[in-house]
Amino acid sequence: MAPTICVEASGRAFDVAIIGAGVVGCALARRFTLDGARVVILEKAADVLDGASKANSAILHTGFDAPVGTLEADCIAAGHAEYREIHARLGLPLIETGALVIAWTEAEEARLPALMEAARQNGVPVAPLTAAETYALEPALGPGVRASFRVAAESIIDPWSAPHAYLLQAFLNGATLCRATEVTGGTYEDGGWTLATRRGDLRASVVINAAGLYGDLVDRQLLGEASFQIRPRKGQFVVYDKPAASLAAHILLPVPTETTKGVVVCQTAWGNLLVGPTAEEQDDRANAPLDGAVLHGLRQKAETILPALAGHEVNAVYAGLRPATEEKNYRINRVADRAYVSVGGIRSTGLSAALGLAQHVAELVRPFAPQMVPLADPVWPTVPNISESAPRDYEAPGNCGIVCHCELVTRREVEAALSGPLAAQSVAGLKRRTRVLMGRCQGFYCSAELARITEGRLSEPMVPPHG
Ligand SMILES: Cc1cc2nc3c(=O)[nH]c(=O)nc-3n(C[C@H](O)[C@H](O)[C@H](O)COP(=O)(O)OP(=O)(O)OC[C@H]3O[C@@H](n4cnc5c(N)ncnc54)[C@H](O)[C@@H]3O)c2cc1C
Repeated sequence: MAPTICVEASGRAFDVAIIGAGVVGCALARRFTLDGARVVILEKAADVLDGASKANSAILHTGFDAPVGTLEADCIAAGHAEYREIHARLGLPLIETGALVIAWTEAEEARLPALMEAARQNGVPVAPLTAAETYALEPALGPGVRASFRVAAESIIDPWSAPHAYLLQAFLNGATLCRATEVTGGTYEDGGWTLATRRGDLRASVVINAAGLYGDLVDRQLLGEASFQIRPRKGQFVVYDKPAASLAAHILLPVPTETTKGVVVCQTAWGNLLVGPTAEEQDDRANAPLDGAVLHGLRQKAETILPALAGHEVNAVYAGLRPATEEKNYRINRVADRAYVSVGGIRSTGLSAALGLAQHVAELVRPFAPQMVPLADPVWPTVPNISESAPRDYEAPGNCGIVCHCELVTRREVEAALSGPLAAQSVAGLKRRTRVLMGRCQGFYCSAELARITEGRLSEPMVPPHG
């Protein structure tokens, strides 16, 4: 029997097909749905946020250090502004710590005025600080600070609730999501696309490629050529246990270089302290192996910045892959005669820029779809809070008890994540909706119970440690 496209999409024609449910695809789905399009999102993995978007630093950047006058700078500014506008309505955290860009050497100090000027040109207010003023704000900093500047609007968010909320809002306003549906090719004829997927064909007027680390391959499959080449750039992180979070009130940034923002030290929305990421080029698009020596180096670096970290335990380590290309800028390519837009190379600022990118791409697509009428009264859902910036479910009555004691995740939260319109389909998806298995024990205590709760409800059964 021929494979079938997901049942919700079967037999339907769509205005816009979005390939890839990373943060960019989720934001695009929301924007186009609110603008009145019939939208389908096609994701090859068992669950959403399975690519670059699963492992970032979760900073809502202002774009103070983005190259002046670029599309990236514009999209970060627009994305940051829209996130601030909608976050409370969708139930999303915004932890307004501000950031300090710290110079530790004479050469770095000499670069601060130019960086502050670039920030002002990007419309981001910054305030210079002497070494004494810097230590007054961050007393745990190690010796050697020469000067810094403060970027008040840099904030910490939760990397997963935002894209989940964008997708949920799209879904509740009529969008269709097909998971485990890899796009393998397509043809454009008679003013529309027939997309081939591993589960059958689908019709759409406009196609948007938001395939992240596979963006160039998808362009080749659909257009026969790609205008950019993905060069995955790995970032490894060390996560310190919760008591360390009090050591840094701000996001502590180094003076950036041409290729990287450098190693950041900051709190997380889960109440930990994060150190990273590295910037390591590799060919593999799928795997981001951890390297003990590099992680040790990160710890040493972190303990130079905050010496008191030496007495703190590490909770977890992880790595993500940025969809970098051979150029620094975003690679947005519109092919007007085939109603196609490639949203490629959303390298290291996509969480912050996603809503702005969606605004930009919607404008690019408008000439292909003049008939779209924005929804008059869209649904505004809220997503469950999993950050430490607001009350958690374990504090509320009727939560059916705690399943994950390290991260204080309740049975009610797990059940909610396994049901509803965007129910988790994989263990990783469940983690990203609830924080289960992410704490100090990394699942040692709770995975047996979770395996029982999730039995028959995930695309692949959970295998608890020790059988
Ligand atoms: C180490 C690191 C730190 C970062 N820190 C920050 C930060 O602090 N702030 C910030 O704003 N940004 C940060 N970023 C950047 C941000 O995470 C990325 O810009 C963003 O995740 C890119 O999202 P995307 O949707 O373009 O790609 P992805 O998340 O990779 O999504 C693409 C999706 O397409 C799917 N797909 C691929 N091929 C196909 C196909 N043929 N058919 C169907 N589906 C397909 C994939 O499975 C995937 O789910 C960081 C990134 C990394 C790696």
